[in-house]
Amino acid sequence: MSGPTSGEFEQIARYFAPLAKDYPLAFGLTDDAALIRPEPGQEIVVTTDCMVAGVHFFPDDAPERIARKLLRVNLSDLAAMGAAPVGYLLAAAWTEAVDDAWLARFAAGLAEDQARFGVALIGGDTAATPGALTLTITALGTVTAGAALRRSGAKPGDGVYVSGTIGDAYLGLQARKAALAGANAESARYFAERLDLPEPRLGLGRRLRGLATAAIDISDGLVADLGHICETSKLAAEIVASRVPLSPPAAALVARAPEYLPALLTGGDDYELCFAVPQGREGEIAALAGELGVALTRIGRCSAGAGVKVEGPDGTALAFERTGYRHF
Ligand SMILES: [Mg+2]
Repeated sequence: MSGPTSGEFEQIARYFAPLAKDYPLAFGLTDDAALIRPEPGQEIVVTTDCMVAGVHFFPDDAPERIARKLLRVNLSDLAAMGAAPVGYLLAAAWTEAVDDAWLARFAAGLAEDQARFGVALIGGDTAATPGALTLTITALGTVTAGAALRRSGAKPGDGVYVSGTIGDAYLGLQARKAALAGANAESARYFAERLDLPEPRLGLGRRLRGLATAAIDISDGLVADLGHICETSKLAAEIVASRVPLSPPAAALVARAPEYLPALLTGGDDYELCFAVPQGREGEIAALAGELGVALTRIGRCSAGAGVKVEGPDGTALAFERTGYRHF
């Protein structure tokens, strides 16, 4: 293979312009830039995330999967800010291994998740690289002016919550590296799916506006990302390991091999939301969980001080080799 046989303009017309058709102000990707026209009283939220082959994904991963994860991790950042997604820009450095068939599958993956999450491609750029396949999305969203969720608003006494389940993506990475002992093939597939296709909690993020005092999406690992809330909110947090929600296959694995627990709490790539909620508003969180069909679990609380303390299964503090896992 020697890279795409189509030229850049043909590539845009064939694979990428169709992804912009639902966003009129991208002008079919024929102009130098797109326009953003927020409703009065709305602010633009912007975020970017880059993925590098061999660092953030396996070079032989299915192109659809790479595309969908790239979009989803960006949307997760919008979710963490309480924003509604609008559109995204794609900057790609293609390698020689990327041919037209690969591009078609990559674009199909984007199309599938665009429809699912209500966003459109609004611009971008492509180049060829002799190095690793490098893909960057910049996602844009909107939020009511002044209402974006931040990391900085947590107060001592607030409860600490997480959405969904924690640690599946870490186990998925171990499964993909054939380094996961003690899990059957079905569990290994489930974990790998959670690694490849995180669920950006967009609906939850929007509903946490005015309810959560601080929020973050878990990309580096629960302990590290809660630590970011603590740093910016200038307080401490204590969580209880046994309260951290695990999926049934992860819980079964930890029951057999408890040594996995610290890694699940620090493993990263969960893309769940971790957030703080004032005392007295727990009932609203329970109602929201029911309404959205998303598990929202109180795992601890904020207090004066600094840093994250994790109470282990035996009641003593867990010590971690590192608080955040850095991919491969
Ligand atoms: Mg983030």
